[in-house]
Amino acid sequence: MVLNLPAPPRHSPEFGHDALVVCDNLVRIYQSEAVEVQALQGLDLLVQEGEMIALVGASGSGKSTLLKVLAGVDSPTAGGARVAGHDLVDMSRRERVHYRRHVVGFVRQQTARNLVPYLSSRQTVDLPLTIAGTPRAERRARTAELLELLGVGHCADRRPAEMSGGEQQRVSIAVALANGPRVLLADEPTGELDSETAAEVFGALRTVNRELGATVVVVTHDAEVSGQVARTVAIRDGRTSSEVLRSDETADAPGRSEEFAVMDRAGRVQLPREYREALDLTSRVRLALAEDHIRIRSDRSDHGEDA
Ligand code: ADP
Ligand code: MG
Repeated sequence: MVLNLPAPPRHSPEFGHDALVVCDNLVRIYQSEAVEVQALQGLDLLVQEGEMIALVGASGSGKSTLLKVLAGVDSPTAGGARVAGHDLVDMSRRERVHYRRHVVGFVRQQTARNLVPYLSSRQTVDLPLTIAGTPRAERRARTAELLELLGVGHCADRRPAEMSGGEQQRVSIAVALANGPRVLLADEPTGELDSETAAEVFGALRTVNRELGATVVVVTHDAEVSGQVARTVAIRDGRTSSEVLRSDETADAPGRSEEFAVMDRAGRVQLPREYREALDLTSRVRLALAEDHIRIRSDRSDHGEDA
């Protein structure tokens, strides 16, 4: 018997083929003696070159794990991760060293871990340049340029203890940018700062994105601060769950923002808890396709079909 099947779908381009950062069903499981923690549970994320995005989510939702994978300091358990053409799952030791030195810059959550107590800012920014074998004159120019761009030119000869928290973080960003990475990753760089200083550091990241064209992924728990970027991605339970997109602000119109749910490649969407609770939705729901929307109803609802 010959079935009249529809034509198979045409070969679709690879997921995120034009994105700079691609996370495809990313899984990271931490295994210790007795317990297994699924820090990332099939996370999809695409970031285009030149974008600046904020990552938000409750403590323990997997933000730091994601950043460590993207920074090349941790390896995923399953799934795919690619940054600027580098496959983070299948990377040789040598490629990993090159990747961490030249392709990504990483600002860690703990201010103290980004800097060296006995080195001045100038010396700290110079360090990765020296390791990369950059000629001296070039190193000097680059260091001065970065400290200036981040508004900490006056801190060139100071050590961490002689700077404020905000200055230390801006120097940390300069260090991360020394070798001209295409992607800058920052894990709660404003977490230990008061809100005014945090806004300054966040402003510095925006400057980096705008002036140097670096793609920026910044984790923040500060909802106010994340309102300053065009795209905010929320992570829940190791997956991207929703996104807020803001249109550009113009002189006479403030930027508008709209929240979207994220649909993964298999078509799965997470319904916000408030929605589930409001309609007491549990394990099964009724779906109905309308002309321009999809209706979701409780399985206990009498209205099985659209009226
Ligand atoms: P976030 O940065 O969003 O607070 P993390 O990525 O740090 O979240 O952690 C996600 C989950 O993974 C948490 O449950 C955390 O306890 C766990 N986790 C993180 N790092 C490790 C580790 N090295 N060993 C075991 N569990 C870990
Ligand atoms: Mg964290």
